[in-house]
Amino acid sequence: MTATSTATIIDGKSFAEGLRGRIADHVARLKAEHGITAGLAVVIVGHDPGSQVYVAQKAKQTVEVGMHSEKYELPEDTSEAEVLALVHKLNADPAIHGILVQMPVPKQIDPNKVIEAIDPAKDVDCFTPANVGKVQIGLPGPVSCTPLGCLMLLRDHLGTLAGKHAVIIGRSNLVGKPMMQLLLRDNCTVTVAHSRTVDLPSIVRQADIVVAAVGRPEMIKGDWIKPGATVIDVGINRIDAPERGPGKTRLLGDVEFASAKEVAGAITPVPGGVGPMTIACLLANTVTTACLINGLVPPSDLTA
Ligand code: NDP
Repeated sequence: MTATSTATIIDGKSFAEGLRGRIADHVARLKAEHGITAGLAVVIVGHDPGSQVYVAQKAKQTVEVGMHSEKYELPEDTSEAEVLALVHKLNADPAIHGILVQMPVPKQIDPNKVIEAIDPAKDVDCFTPANVGKVQIGLPGPVSCTPLGCLMLLRDHLGTLAGKHAVIIGRSNLVGKPMMQLLLRDNCTVTVAHSRTVDLPSIVRQADIVVAAVGRPEMIKGDWIKPGATVIDVGINRIDAPERGPGKTRLLGDVEFASAKEVAGAITPVPGGVGPMTIACLLANTVTTACLINGLVPPSDLTA
């Protein structure tokens, strides 16, 4: 973390680097002490350039931490039956402990059927109903990657979260809802806001912790933030940036960083905040599932 004259900037990139180091240690120990090589399979269907970059990054980091990595790149016109057959094959493969099918999938494939086909024991994205339920009642298992990353950054910055009022903006199954469960488990008082919330600024002003997961560039302004609050900006919004050259883009968060950093106690930047934590937490979840599949207790520093 680097202190500025205003908010502390929470450096997710460097935290994720440290986390990957810890993951590599656990992977090496699993190999040396139990003869287990944790394995992650990533499946991508179609040619979405953003998804391809993301999947390539996942595969590269999987190898870097010493895991077994398999990448399946299927053509855009792959049928639902073919994807399901691959998922069933990976479910049965003892070398694979985590299966991730990159979303979105082309329209001929029902994403819910794909998610339901993944063995919950290998569901490192924590999408299956079984794993969503486990997070809710606090049983060990994989935890949604982005909320897990946010929780790790919050704990690292604040220590205990007990008694803090957390306002989450966004109620998606991917981010908002699992974030709510994790913050409740850490004894926060949690408010979840969404598109029908009335007078959002006054609700955000009550928050000791703000988690913004909306998908609207710079929607949350500095004068919505309580002085000293910790702000976690999950948003990734790609906008045109002609000032950088023809066709260039840049990333903006859901929080107006320039005004918010003048008021907040700490804030995550975009890029370099929550983003790098998501892939690191996917790898952490693969260690967790590799342990659970083999009857071992997962490392407590890699989960919620
Ligand atoms: P969704 O579109 O699934 O959910 C957005 C949520 O924001 C919804 O609950 C919606 O409310 C709410 N919302 C929309 N407009 C408003 C508004 N004006 N006021 C209050 N609430 C509003 O998005 P995701 O949760 O998947 O993602 C959110 C953001 O996080 C995106 O920018 C995404 O790119 C980013 N993201 C980043 C990741 C990372 O690794 N850093 C990983 C995943 C996502 P309602 O339910 O009423 O429609």
